[in-house]
Amino acid sequence: MGGLLHEDLASLSDLDEQSLLESLSQRFKQDRIYTYIGDILVAINPFKYLPFYEKEVSERYKCHEKTKLPPHIFAVADRAYQSMLGRLSTGPQNQCIVISGESGAGKTESTKLLLRQIMELCKANSQLEQQILQVNPLLEAFGNAQTVMNDNSSRFGKYIQLRFHNSSVKGAKINEYLLEKSRVVHQDEGERNFHIFYCMLAGISPDDKEMYGLLDPTQYRYLNGRYGSEDTVRTWGEKYRYLCNAMDMVGFEEQEKVDMMTILAGILSLGNIMFEPTETDALKVTEKSMGWLKATAGQFGVQEEELLRSLICTLSVTRGEAIRRLHNQQQAEDARDSIAKVAYGRVFGWIVSKVNELLAPNVDLDIELNEIGILDIFGFENFAVNRFEQLCINLANEQLQYFFNHHIFLMEQNEYKQEGIEWETIAFKDNKPILDLFLTKPIGILSLLDEQSAFPQASDRDFVDKLNSKFKSSPHYEVVRSHSPLFTVVHYAGKVQYNGGGFLEKNRDTIPASIRGLLINSVTPLLSVLFSATISRTGTLMPRKAKLMQMADDNFNSTRKQSVGAQFKHSLAVLMEKMFAASPHFVRCIKPNGSKLPDLVDNKMIMDQLRYNGLLETIRIRRDGFSWRPSFTEFAQRYNILLMKPNLPLTKESCMSILNTAEIHGWKSGSSRLFFKYWHQEELARQLERL
Ligand code: ATP
Ligand code: MG
Repeated sequence: MGGLLHEDLASLSDLDEQSLLESLSQRFKQDRIYTYIGDILVAINPFKYLPFYEKEVSERYKCHEKTKLPPHIFAVADRAYQSMLGRLSTGPQNQCIVISGESGAGKTESTKLLLRQIMELCKANSQLEQQILQVNPLLEAFGNAQTVMNDNSSRFGKYIQLRFHNSSVKGAKINEYLLEKSRVVHQDEGERNFHIFYCMLAGISPDDKEMYGLLDPTQYRYLNGRYGSEDTVRTWGEKYRYLCNAMDMVGFEEQEKVDMMTILAGILSLGNIMFEPTETDALKVTEKSMGWLKATAGQFGVQEEELLRSLICTLSVTRGEAIRRLHNQQQAEDARDSIAKVAYGRVFGWIVSKVNELLAPNVDLDIELNEIGILDIFGFENFAVNRFEQLCINLANEQLQYFFNHHIFLMEQNEYKQEGIEWETIAFKDNKPILDLFLTKPIGILSLLDEQSAFPQASDRDFVDKLNSKFKSSPHYEVVRSHSPLFTVVHYAGKVQYNGGGFLEKNRDTIPASIRGLLINSVTPLLSVLFSATISRTGTLMPRKAKLMQMADDNFNSTRKQSVGAQFKHSLAVLMEKMFAASPHFVRCIKPNGSKLPDLVDNKMIMDQLRYNGLLETIRIRRDGFSWRPSFTEFAQRYNILLMKPNLPLTKESCMSILNTAEIHGWKSGSSRLFFKYWHQEELARQLERL
């Protein structure tokens, strides 16, 4: 088989950056979008329909031998499932599939294909299976949106855990990470709000529309006053009906759905409330938006005056005394937007915890369950301006890279062990120091951020000054001289300059007690629950003991609540603990071009991704180690000519004689194969030429 068609690039002896790129792009041009590099599956987004996922294909990949069929995402599903059953590997029976890649590379599509195939493999309880398959459309409606990069971009990260007893699925659990709440109130040029708003407006019946108090979509500021063409609206409408059906199937109750839609309608109305100054110091709602205030109050099930009050002033309690501080126009608009963001965020969190409740395994506690986890999380980001969100995302990627390195390293080590070769240290770029820069207590970036967030007077500048003074001599940190609070982190994938503006506020993410009080008192049951309960880190709702305690709690709210950074750090730690205890499978998704077009390859773009997702590093590890590993037979067959003995037996001894004659040094001999450095093969080739 010629090099270009190689299905496993790790078997190429002259594997380097250029040959990797060439092989991948040659394969892609022949619609071979899947390729293995060792046990890693590389998937290049075809941006077109390929007949790769039909029933017949799905059948073929059940219980197959890896080398018998071309690389495929279904093969990964099969391997994970068989290993989970203990049929393949000797590693832990819990499995995790890590899918990575930049926005639009195909992570979510791959996740869905994996889920589908795993459900095919374990056909057991068809109702549960259907429920699990309906979770994705549900999460996508609320958590995905159209962006410049991807028409269906996931604006949150997720880890889906499928739980099995023996071969049959018993339940599922989802963890979600970092929903981009700011999208509810603002979208950049060419982007949209979360799908659900458009689908709801397009698909709802006229009666329901009236019941929820929804008006013409172009009226809403949070939707930028834009809607869609007739065709798109029709598609949205169909999606909405599909979604309602999915919610029924998963097990949401009618009233819960009604409440959810009412809250969404409330968020849209809220966004249209505008303010203007009065003759006194106070603000008022503009004449034009009086109607929106009334509508919001109705939809949120709260008193109009109370809503107004929480928008135009802050109530704080100092030494037992209630002090009212009037907002200026900017503060009032911020209060409005923060209600919208927090309400949406809580609805999303609630959906996830509800799904978890409905799909929790219904089995005896002492039954042992094995897991297959699928991680679909945003790739490394480096934009013109990088904010707190990018910092969190890049930290997650740094952590995943660490996990990946660890795995590749272990794999190498294991193979050496199996062959009885002495273990020598293979140098690889360990990114642990970068992780430490973020996570060390008490002086990692996140700890310093928390420390500064605890001072109400501290500014983003103070935070960055602090970073500069602590890390100026770190090789992974660079001080930026600028009036803006900028700083640079040298990530494994390259340098990223962050803008510290807004870091403290985003990290605190506090809801003023008055707003919380307002929403707790809502007559909409769901809204009240969302604010009178804390959603625990694991995603389940924990009702507080008594409302009284709650009220007392509110005054300490800002000090007691965990910061966003700390929560994220915690959820990453939990995730890592799970992943390190599982057998990993890696799917690296690659976007072939920036125009979302089929059959178009942008080499530079692919190369950048190979670097970001650690594939270049992987091949470097292999090159630094023994990259070429022929069996004795293979080797003797190919090089016996160097001894001029055509009938040489294909044994270890023959190999030794060949190597002696050729005067090759630095190789190792295992129990079944030889281990060479990449240059050895070149040397042998030269000797063959000289014959
Ligand atoms: P984000 O990080 O923005 O969520 P993503 O990596 O999850 O991005 P996807 O939503 O999975 O990206 O894929 C983007 C689009 O690419 C899909 O909507 C689909 O049109 C196309 N696509 C992805 N994978 C495939 C595939 N295997 N076959 C055909 N089209 C695909
Ligand atoms: Mg996605």
